[in-house]
Amino acid sequence: MVMQTDDQWTLELWHRFGDIRKATFECPGCGHIQSIQDFINLNLDPSRAYKDCIGNFVDQLGCNFSVDSDGDLSDKTRLIVNREGKEIRVFNFI
Ligand SMILES: [Zn+2]
Repeated sequence: MVMQTDDQWTLELWHRFGDIRKATFECPGCGHIQSIQDFINLNLDPSRAYKDCIGNFVDQLGCNFSVDSDGDLSDKTRLIVNREGKEIRVFNFI
């Protein structure tokens, strides 16, 4: 599993996508690809785009995966450590 500081993670995000709204993540539960923009379009908290399957907010997907409540899926998530030393699990970029 990838472990990064939040600075490294943000830098990788910019290198890959250029525009944060275009950043896409894969749900570890169902494989759905979702972008930050998808969450903005639904008036959802954009920071949930890498923590919750969008299936939590729309009916079509039948998936309610969330890093906050679901088990360890270490190959499909990464661990980000912020300046305060707090660990945040996030979906992988795709
Ligand atoms: Zn899902």
